[in-house]
Amino acid sequence: MAKYIFVTGGVVSSLGKGITAASIGVLLKSRGLRVIHQKFDPYLNVDPGTMNPYQHGEVYVTDDGAESDLDLGHYERFTGVTTNRNCNYTSGRIYDAIIKKERRGDYLGGTVQVVPHVTSEICDSIRSVVTNDVDVVISEIGGTVGDIESLPYLEALRQFRQQEGRNNVLFIHVTLIPYLHRAGEVKTKPTQHSVGRLREIGIIPDILICRTEKHLDKDVRKKLSLFCNVDEEAVVECMDAENTIYEVPLQFAEQDLDTVIVDNLGLRGGRRNLRPWREYCDKVINADQVVEIGVVGKYSELLDAYKSIHEALNHAGAAHTAKVKITSISAEDIEKNGAEHELKGLGGILVPGGFGARGVEGKIKAVTYAREKKIPYFGICYGMHMAVIEFARNVLKLKDADTTENIQDTKNPVIHLMEEQKRVMNLGGTMRLGAFPCELKKNSIVRKSYGKDSISERHRHRFEFNNDYREQFEKAGMSLSGLSPNGLLVEIVELEDHPWFVAVQFHPEFKSRPIDPHPLFRDFIGASLKCGGRKIEKNV
Ligand code: GLN
Repeated sequence: MAKYIFVTGGVVSSLGKGITAASIGVLLKSRGLRVIHQKFDPYLNVDPGTMNPYQHGEVYVTDDGAESDLDLGHYERFTGVTTNRNCNYTSGRIYDAIIKKERRGDYLGGTVQVVPHVTSEICDSIRSVVTNDVDVVISEIGGTVGDIESLPYLEALRQFRQQEGRNNVLFIHVTLIPYLHRAGEVKTKPTQHSVGRLREIGIIPDILICRTEKHLDKDVRKKLSLFCNVDEEAVVECMDAENTIYEVPLQFAEQDLDTVIVDNLGLRGGRRNLRPWREYCDKVINADQVVEIGVVGKYSELLDAYKSIHEALNHAGAAHTAKVKITSISAEDIEKNGAEHELKGLGGILVPGGFGARGVEGKIKAVTYAREKKIPYFGICYGMHMAVIEFARNVLKLKDADTTENIQDTKNPVIHLMEEQKRVMNLGGTMRLGAFPCELKKNSIVRKSYGKDSISERHRHRFEFNNDYREQFEKAGMSLSGLSPNGLLVEIVELEDHPWFVAVQFHPEFKSRPIDPHPLFRDFIGASLKCGGRKIEKNV
């Protein structure tokens, strides 16, 4: 029988609930328990697939092709679990299911209501991730206690504990303990209010995770324990991680959070083993080289838009005991100021996924710069399209080469719409999504990197390499080094006469883990270190 942990948030948003939930997963897994993670998002979009990165940040893609919340990326990176489409529900998806049932007549003439129908649908969704391989479900509720939109979830959780039994369900509340500089004190009142709101709904948290910039002393812990009705050892502090977010599980372990959890839930589990985590964090702390990587995108000021790419670059850096300095570069700035001005001095250049015409010419200029100056280049999805267009224009001399995504009637559509996409009408959930196999060419850069002939990677796109141009590309030195098993889709291109130039149709960043860095990111950083790495001088 599975046990359930629910993570709610209070006082303010952006407290790092996702990282908290993921870190709890790490601790339980380190004791040999099998966990699965889940996120509930209270907004009404069915999934984040059609949302703008300014609204939502990155869209994370699962193996089974769900377009989901970026917290699923944290869960996978931290615990190494493979999430699936049941690991992320939005209110839109819950309501969509209910309305479909209602239209089918499933409610037999009854009035369909938030309580009990929406709440039951939420409870069913929680159970939908349970399999025989799961000991603990960790579900995070998006938003903040007190939001109107969160109410049905909290009511559902209250009911859920009633159904599953007190000893099988644990509530963890993540909250902010502000520090008032003038008063020189940390303040517990916002947390007391937030826990009060939860109590009104019938939920008493078992554990408080307190985000704070100052250590919480014994008195503060006592006060929180007394006023919020949690045991003193269940008041756990969470400070901003100094070197890397992967230190958070170690912080929690120092406070024995996992012991509080297993004791509360009556779980057994073995002894905690966090050795690989310590080793990873040590590599980050002991980095003795640094390399600057330029990520050329549309959302240069928005870190969350390329979350998994940033994480994958960090993992790859640690694999070389190096620090990766990530510089976000606006593709439009390259259009305005020129590639030399924006890209000079970089150790490597990465063009990530993207959509639409804005900034495209700047991205193409970045590819030219990397190709001609022999700077390592890594193109991901749209970044592969850019690499193909650039090569067509400047090497094959097809001056008007383009993607039909931006110029529908271009004479040289080197990137064009996939056949099955031509019939697609709805925008939501209709791209080529999820994991697909790919065969690697012998002796290619990528074959050496992965160390195997066939791989599986996750996709999210509508457009693809146009097979009419295959011969021209190969003849001129752009190798098509990864193909779908039936040979029909070009998944990877690479340049032969270059230190490291690889562009892929898929999103390798989704599968990089701190403890298991992605081979392409690892080798991209390896090449970039050779090209532009600098020693870090340590002050002894
Ligand atoms: N816009 C491109 C397509 O739809 C690339 C998508 C992406 O980079 N994820 O094919």
